[in-house]
Amino acid sequence: MEWLEVRSPYSGEVVGRVEKGGGTEARQALDAAARALADPLPAHERARILDTVAGLLEARHDEAARLISAEAGKPMKAARVEAQRAVSTYTFAAVEARRLTGETIPMDASAAGEGKLAFTLRLPIGIVGAISPFNFPLNLVAHKIAPALAAGCPVVLKPASATPLCALFLAGLEEEAGLPPGWLNVVAGSASEIGDALVEDDRVKLITFTGSGDVGWGLAERAHRKRVKLELGNATPAIVCADAPAGTAAKLAANAFSYAGQSCISVQRIFVLAEAWEAFVSEFVPKVGALVVGDPGDEQTDVGPLISADDRDRVLEWIREAKGEILAGGDTTEDGLIRPTVIANPDPGDKVQCEEVFGPVVTLTRVGSLDEAIEQANATRYGLQAAIFSADVSACLEAARRLEFGGVTVNEAPTFRADQMPYGGVKASGNTKEGPAWAVREMTEERLVVLQP
Ligand code: NAP
Repeated sequence: MEWLEVRSPYSGEVVGRVEKGGGTEARQALDAAARALADPLPAHERARILDTVAGLLEARHDEAARLISAEAGKPMKAARVEAQRAVSTYTFAAVEARRLTGETIPMDASAAGEGKLAFTLRLPIGIVGAISPFNFPLNLVAHKIAPALAAGCPVVLKPASATPLCALFLAGLEEEAGLPPGWLNVVAGSASEIGDALVEDDRVKLITFTGSGDVGWGLAERAHRKRVKLELGNATPAIVCADAPAGTAAKLAANAFSYAGQSCISVQRIFVLAEAWEAFVSEFVPKVGALVVGDPGDEQTDVGPLISADDRDRVLEWIREAKGEILAGGDTTEDGLIRPTVIANPDPGDKVQCEEVFGPVVTLTRVGSLDEAIEQANATRYGLQAAIFSADVSACLEAARRLEFGGVTVNEAPTFRADQMPYGGVKASGNTKEGPAWAVREMTEERLVVLQP
């Protein structure tokens, strides 16, 4: 048997090891899922299991947070938030299991339907193939497997190779809660082999993928007969107007650098109206400088390591290439962590301005008008979430209408997410919404029943 070693991104120490699978294990997992599907679980039982997992996770959230921090290098502060959010994801999935239903059709609304009764049944789509990223190794796995169980779908899950331990931890909790064999099958290992097995097997009816665009859109092209639901990246903008509420700079500083910018909705590009520029910059830069950079296991740490040395080198290269003025950071600490970096007025073509950095870098761009801010915020292929900070309701509503993103937050960081929200992007950022109510809809299909009494 081959093993996958899981190493701390901070210290390089081995923090766990898991069995390494490939195509053969993925196909065995699909056979097990097919057996599970043949023996459906009633909704009340699915809801009971989901509620039980929420309770177990609540009781063990400290352990869950430590596991997230160990394998993903996420600072404990952020890891605790993630662990608590996963409780919420399971709780909302249990609600969806209980209210899963079709609808009745008003048949006598047309002459053709008179005398007939019709309704839809909402049925599980079938086996779900789930592929998850490293950056939220617990809660983004929960966002796939909890709605799938709510919908009545067995799952074959491939977690990120850097962070498979949280996925196995959740699988253990589901088993403890009474989930029968075959409903959740975790296969860690070769991405291409496991991915190919999910794409090629006709029994997989839906692939739910969170990760990078190249991989995600590639899967969608290859599996064109399946539903392929994609949650991808962003180059997250925030617009700051002169009448932005007090505390905006502090909020944006915290949300640009938590987990070293490795969140798909980490604040990356801040567009500041000219009248607000001086005050904003003089408040924002010291707040960034005050962030504690270091060991993610330390409760005081705000900013830890990137997931790999390759990613660190890539981000440092992008900082070096950028044309703007570096106002903070731009270098590394003694233990090789990139300091939170602020770049003022970069060139629109700089990678830090038009691509997803996925690192501790934020750009500040001075703009002359709200129109210009919206235009520049939209000047990216991405469209996941964006924000505007202003006291002017009309300006906020105009921005909400014109920003081409799946979600717009007003006077809240674009990094904000509560787990019951419909969350997902447009353009290159994806083609679906997650959040249990929306994911369950994707993972089920409606069957029409027409009755002639
Ligand atoms: P990634 O490299 O695309 O990996 C994501 C998952 O895909 C991993 O499990 C990976 O496995 C797997 N994978 C890689 N190649 C594959 C293939 N050929 N076939 C099937 N699966 C394959 O992304 P990441 O670096 O983990 O995550 C960062 C990205 O995710 C960023 O772009 C971020 O914005 C995005 N993200 C989006 C959301 C959202 O909700 N919209 C949330 C979080 C993250 P291995 O680990 O084994 O390579």
